[in-house]
Amino acid sequence: MSACPATDVTDISTAAPLPVLGRDVLVPLVTGGEVTYAALDYAASAPALQRVWDDVAAYAPYYGSVHRGAGYLSQLSTDLFEKSRADVARFLGCRAGDQVLFTRSTTDSLNLLAAALPAGCRVFVFETEHHAALLPWERRADVEVTCLDAPRSPREAVEALERALADREPYGPALVCVTGASNVTGELWPVRELAAAAHAHGARIVLDAAQLAPHHPVDIDRLDVDWVAFSGHKLYAPFGAGVLAGRADWLREAEPYLAGGGASRAVTRGADGTVGVDWHAGEARHEAGSPNVIGAYAIAAACRALEEAGFERLVERERRLVERVRAGLAAVPGVRVLSLFGDDAPRVGVISFVVEGWNTSHFAAALSAEYGIGVRDGLFCAHPLVRTLLGGERDAPGECGAPGEGPSLGAIRVSFGAGTPDEHVERFTGAVRELVENGARWRYRTENGRCVPDTSA
Ligand code: PLP
Repeated sequence: MSACPATDVTDISTAAPLPVLGRDVLVPLVTGGEVTYAALDYAASAPALQRVWDDVAAYAPYYGSVHRGAGYLSQLSTDLFEKSRADVARFLGCRAGDQVLFTRSTTDSLNLLAAALPAGCRVFVFETEHHAALLPWERRADVEVTCLDAPRSPREAVEALERALADREPYGPALVCVTGASNVTGELWPVRELAAAAHAHGARIVLDAAQLAPHHPVDIDRLDVDWVAFSGHKLYAPFGAGVLAGRADWLREAEPYLAGGGASRAVTRGADGTVGVDWHAGEARHEAGSPNVIGAYAIAAACRALEEAGFERLVERERRLVERVRAGLAAVPGVRVLSLFGDDAPRVGVISFVVEGWNTSHFAAALSAEYGIGVRDGLFCAHPLVRTLLGGERDAPGECGAPGEGPSLGAIRVSFGAGTPDEHVERFTGAVRELVENGARWRYRTENGRCVPDTSA
């Protein structure tokens, strides 16, 4: 009788990472030799999925102008561009009547929505947002922004929003903007509950899914959010496109984001010399200029690839990688992982930490130069959040701090996803332990405010 092998929950090797470009790239080590690059900065930009690259390469010879071209390739490209919208709509679980707009990025999407807000709209954000979700609303002189303190639990977030919305007077249009997953802590936000709170008070909600969409299914209908924004380059499709998807009404009623061809249905010049425009009402209204067809097609290819790979499997694999990294960091004395919601909070593969006695730039430079590991250090375009999490703590200048320069402030962020092999996270946790126990093996100096290996000797 054959026995079933016991399932080892710590064994993630059975779920293979998705193939990505650059997985075999060798980088030099300052200490000598070469090593395959460990890309652990997915939260900034993820490598392209091989599937995305292959789909784009297969389409590229057929590339043609979209929408107004009469030729065969123009028609084929127009068809693929519009099918890409449909793929994204399916990926996001869009409702009937929702629009899918192709933009340049999450930043572009949220700026577009900010420009489309009705006059007098009140906007509610938490100080924890990425600057792309914190700043666009501030540029509208006729919009009032309320920035809420960093909550210390998902429940506190919902309660703080409830209170702020209940206080608003007069009762006009309002928008809540919230991230799905923090780009600093990786922690998931209670999007569904925040959406319910927003709607209960007659407000709308936009989900910044820049860090959520690459790691987790996003269902606009189930979450009951009004809009979703994300970037292709974080979703394994680095071809310069992003998405804003959701309710059509505010977008239809707003001035076009950019004025130009494509957004205009008809342009006339009157006898008095004035120019009159009849703008499109659909997606084209906010997509003036020649669209980024390859970028849109690449995003759609990534959506299809993630769907086909099975998001649940990817989520489960990533959860185990997260556990492994967190356990590895917890075992190193002097390492503090930054968290708003505590150890038990569900999170994606984005983890920020500080190391006692180390300047963050020095630590990140040593991971790169001595181990071939690419992470990020600093404030991650979320300055208020990182300052709150550090609680006034300052970096030590470490070996790298030039005299008189003063310590810098920040953290180190490691981030990973569907293409990350086990070996990368193991190399990372091993490198952190070695650096803390034994120190850097090389000398570093400060150049333009950052640590770099000193190769002068
Ligand atoms: N929102 C979050 C949560 C992010 O992490 C980022 C980028 O890091 C952005 C928005 C902005 O994305 P992009 O730079 O692609 O516009």
